[in-house]
Formats: sequence, structure tokens, C-alpha cells
Amino acid sequence: MDAPLDRINFLKDEINKSNYKYYVEENPYLSDFEYDKMFAELKELEEKYPLLKTPDSPTQRVGSVSEKFFPYTHKYRLYSLDNTYNEQELEKWYERVTKECGNNVDLVCELKIDGLAIALTYEKGIFIRGVTRGDGITGEDITTNLKTVKAIPLKLFEPADIEVRGEIYMPKTSFEKLNEENLKKGEKIFANPRNAASGSIRQLDSTITAKRDLSIFVYSSVFENTLNAPKTHYESMMYLKKLGFKINPNIRLCKNIKEAIEYCKEWDLKRADLNYATDGVVIKVNNLLFQEDLGFTSRAPKWATAFKFPPEEVTTKLLDIELNIGKSGAVTPVAILDPVQLAGSTVSRASLHNFDEIKRLDVRIGDTVLIKKAAEIIPKVIKVMENPEHENLPEYVPPTRCPACNSLLTTRPGEVNLYCENDSCSQQTIAKIEFWVSKEAMDIDFIGPSIIQQLYENRFISNAVDLYRLTMQDFMQLDGVKEKSAYNMYNSIQNSKTRPLNRLLTAFAIRHIGKETAELLAENFTNLDEIMTANIETLSAIDGIGSKMAESVYEFFHNENNLHLIKELKNLGLNPASKAVKKSDKLTGKTFVLTGTLQNMTRDKASEIIKELGGKTSSSVSKNTSYVIAGENPGSKLDKAQNLGVIILTEDEFLAMIEEDL
Ligand code: NAD
Repeated sequence: MDAPLDRINFLKDEINKSNYKYYVEENPYLSDFEYDKMFAELKELEEKYPLLKTPDSPTQRVGSVSEKFFPYTHKYRLYSLDNTYNEQELEKWYERVTKECGNNVDLVCELKIDGLAIALTYEKGIFIRGVTRGDGITGEDITTNLKTVKAIPLKLFEPADIEVRGEIYMPKTSFEKLNEENLKKGEKIFANPRNAASGSIRQLDSTITAKRDLSIFVYSSVFENTLNAPKTHYESMMYLKKLGFKINPNIRLCKNIKEAIEYCKEWDLKRADLNYATDGVVIKVNNLLFQEDLGFTSRAPKWATAFKFPPEEVTTKLLDIELNIGKSGAVTPVAILDPVQLAGSTVSRASLHNFDEIKRLDVRIGDTVLIKKAAEIIPKVIKVMENPEHENLPEYVPPTRCPACNSLLTTRPGEVNLYCENDSCSQQTIAKIEFWVSKEAMDIDFIGPSIIQQLYENRFISNAVDLYRLTMQDFMQLDGVKEKSAYNMYNSIQNSKTRPLNRLLTAFAIRHIGKETAELLAENFTNLDEIMTANIETLSAIDGIGSKMAESVYEFFHNENNLHLIKELKNLGLNPASKAVKKSDKLTGKTFVLTGTLQNMTRDKASEIIKELGGKTSSSVSKNTSYVIAGENPGSKLDKAQNLGVIILTEDEFLAMIEEDL
């Protein structure tokens, strides 16, 4: 165990080093979560050993200033925020607040925008200066660049003398587009939207800033003339809106900390749907007189605190790079990681996309990597953290042969992946069977990857068609499979024989033909035989089917092997002639949008039912939407529906609507 002084010095050094990397070089080498953990530890040690707290400690200071632009000393100091990742600490903070200000202190909750803090000064309603927060006392004068940000008003609707603070940010979609373009041009790739916003607004050439899609949310103000100044933070925000500033629409007044915690929970789930990055919620005391009473510490107000969402990014060690062979034969690299907690689960594998990406990131086995998990998406490696060992590690060399069947890998024109072209490659076959049973294709329950692996290795199956030949006795010969689960497996395979044509077409995994195109094909032909005999012209005449897709379908149904398998499927009782039969016209003319998790069926199943009853589904809410079906934890589609006055149905209401047709 380190002596307290050694540990304090170590933490101070690490935090100062990471501050410089983060604020000045815009190239952090720690994840925010790790940084915050070290910061909290340092604060705790300094509280325990007050004599070891020095004025130069990072806990006593805000941010950092770079010397890229002219320095400007702020008229009113800018502060940081204290933060926490847990609810109990929010309650403790509120206790301290109510102890000082009395019971029933109203709070305002706002999303904590992950961008760059700036202060804008207006004289008689005219924008005269914009400065970065810097160390809170001195920032950088970036007025010229800020004038290129369209959401910053150059003239207010009233001739106010005011200083406002806000966060410059880059929308997520613009950040991804910028990185894609920079990748093509061989220019800097930004690790996250915050770095991209900060890098773009701090360009020495303001014509470059003007080309970047930047915006702002304003979140506080200082009034020069206090005569008619608002009495609460919420009022002041409404006034800023009236002056022409862009404020975040998700601001909410809360009566107490309980309501504020509800807001935090709600936005932890909904944040993934926003097109800007938010790393938490800022909770502020609403009454401005109370704010004055509470005051500040050396770096943060006591009248506000930030609740940080569980991290979506963490660093860990890359132990190995495994190769995955997909149903199309594509060979893709998978990162094998030292297990780490991320967004509430333990992660030990992450996507590395393709071998070009490994080269671009210069990922080497043994590196420390930053991994990210956005809601519902498989974690991916986004960056190699700077570390001295990196140069001593061997560069990664992509494979030349398939790790499963040893055949030479190929490249395909216009594609970045490497391919195993051997149709009978074991891993490719297993991937095809896994896809066949998946929810997206034939939707066969109880048959997971380990069952498929066992069935294949024990030679019960050599392709998806063989699934339909299996008996209950076959299943009972597998490890740990008893009568009940054998029955379930057998039954769900047999039940899948009546799946509609679109599902069977999806399950074939024809190149370039995904779920939507399979639906299009099923809608335009009455049975499988018709599709099998269609020529390329007929196929490509369908709206939504391009020539590449048409050729691919044609080739698939003219391949001897495939024809043989289809014949066997028919002999085994699959009825590929049947397509999703329209059961009634009950929902004809109605468009549904689904959001959140449904309890009684998957969203795919609900869409299928809607179509069977003549209705349509859409992925986004508009004024043409008839109903939004909202399951648990609905996304921003629900807010949009509320704004547009679209009828919102619970899952039960939807089930009641279609009850007699089920
Ligand atoms: P912060 O970003 O955690 O919080 C303060 C800032 O929040 C304010 O300055 C303001 O810019 C912003 N903010 C966004 N929305 C707001 C709103 N609605 N109301 C008020 N403020 C709002 O604090 P900080 O001092 O800028 O930076 C510290 C944080 O930065 C750390 O907690 C860490 O997450 C990150 N950091 C990371 C590294 C690293 O190496 N990864 C290094 C330094 C800092």
C-alpha cells in the first residue's frame, strides 16, 4: 500500500498529465470514467489528510488553458461541476442544500452536454466576444470562430447587456461524417464528438470552423443590469430563449431530489436516441438567492451537481485478436479483451470491424484500447491508448488463410473484408445455420449457438435443411439435453415450417438480400417457384431491387447446390409457396410506429401482425403516423408522437385492438 503522500503525488501527476492531453492536445489517454475515479480518490485523500492538500492540486483548479489563441481574462469566473455516479451522493448533496436553505428546495434538471464550455458577451444585444472556459479565470478568445456557428445569435431580440455560458457541440451524425471524410483524406480522426467540437472551434483558420457542423446549447447567464433580473434559474432560461438563444428543450423543473433522480434514470435510457452526446444530468438549485447563499468551492458551485451516466467508454487490455467467419464467408477480426465493466455488463469481446480498421488504428495485441458501447450495439474498439510499450509490440498481420478450413482468403472488388470462398467451410456453415434459426430469419426458439455447435460436431446436421430431419432422440444424445428441452427444440423447428415466404427468403442469406428486400420479393411474387424462375429483368423491374440484387437472386436460384437443398426442404414439408397471408383489412390505411420493449412479442412479430391485418409500419414518427405503440423504456419517438398529437397505444391497448384477429 502506498503512503498517502506518494499516492497523492501519483494521482496529481496522472491527473495533470491527462488534463493536458484532454484540454490542450484534445487526445485523451484515459477514459472519462477512469479520470473521474482518480479525481474522486484524490479528493477523498485530501479531505482525510488536509495538510497534504496544496493550492496547485488539480482538485483546486478548473481545466487548463492552451496558448493557441489570445488569452482573455473572464470578467466573471467560470466554474466546473462536482460530479457523482451514484444516487446516494445526490441525496447527500440535496441534504446539504436543504440544511442551508430550508426544506422544499426546487431543482432544475438539464442534460449535461458533452462539448466545450464557452462564455459569450453581448452589449446592447450585440455579440462582441466569445471565450473558452480555459482554467475558469483565463480562456482563449475565439470570437471570430464562434461567429461562424449559426446557432449563436449575432444580435439579440432585445438590447440586453448580458454574458451567457453554453456548450459548443457537434451532432453525432456530423461527427461520424467528419471522421469518414477525414479518414479518406488521411486527416485527424477524432475520438468522440466532444473532441471534434473542441478541435473544430479552436481552428486557427476560421474558414475551416465554418465548414464544420457546430451548434450550441446555452445553459446559464450573468446579468449586467440586475434591476429586472429573473429570480429563478428556470425563469432566466426562458428569458434566454426569448432573447434568441438556443436552450436544450429537455430542461425540467423538479420539486425535490426524488424527481431529479427520476429524470436522471429516464435520460440514462433515452440518451442514445439523441443526436448529441450527453454524459450526464446537471441538477441546479432553482432559486437564485439560494444559489448566492450556497456559493462556490474553489472549483465548483455548491448549488449544482452533475450526475454522470454509467460509462459507455472504458479502457482495457487487448489479449488477442480472434477471427470470425460469417454466413457470407466474410472473415472479421474480434478483439478478445481483459474483461471489464461497461454500461452495466462485463465485456470481454469487442468488434474491430475489419483489417483496414486494425491498420488505421494500429492495434497490436497487448495494447491498451478504448472500447465503447452505444445502446444496443456490440462494443467496439475505437482507439489505442498511448502507451510506451506499443512500439515494442509486433504489428498485427492479417491472415491469408481461413482459420477454419485453411483455404486461401480472397478480396472482393469494392469491399474491405477478406472472404473464405469455400462453401463447405465448417465455420461458415455453422454461421449460416445460426442465422437460419435467428429471430430475423426463421425465428426458431431453443436452438442456440452451443446446440448448433454440438449438432454439427456430432454430425447430426451439415446444413440448415438437416434441422428438419432431427428427431427428439437425436436431441437427447446431446450434452445436458433432457426430454423437456428436446421436445421444445424439436417442436420449434417443426413449427417453423409454416413461416411466411419473406422469412424463408431472408434465411437463405442470399448476398445483398436482407430482411427488407426479402419482404419486397415476397410481396411481388405469389410463391417461391415464381421467384426461382424469374429472370434478371423481371427481378430488377421491382421498385427497390437494383441490378446487383437481381443478379444475386438469379445466381442463387441457378446454383445446383441451392436447388438441391430447396427440393429437400419441400420434401421435408416446408411450404415455401405460402407467403404472409393477409388475414383481414382491419388495419388497412393505418401506419404504426413501434418504440420500446414489448412484453408479449418482439417488435418484428408485432410488425408482422400489423402487415397481416393490412396495416403498415414505419421507423419514424411523422404527421402521417396513425398510432405509436409504446413498450417499456420508449425512445424519443414517444416524445415526438406527443408533440405531434399522434395516438399512443400501450402494448395491452394494441393487443385489445387486434384481439379477435389473433
Ligand atoms: P465537466 O465537464 O464534468 O463539468 C462541467 C462542465 O459541464 C461545464 O464547464 C460545462 O461546460 C458543462 N455543461 C454541460 N452542460 C451543462 C449544463 N446544462 N449546465 C452547466 N454546465 C454544463 O467538468 P470539466 O471540469 O470541464 O471537466 C472535467 C471532466 O472532463 C471530467 O469529469 C472528465 O469527465 C473529463 N476529463 C477527462 C479527461 C481524460 O483524460 N479522459 C481529462 C480531463 C477531464
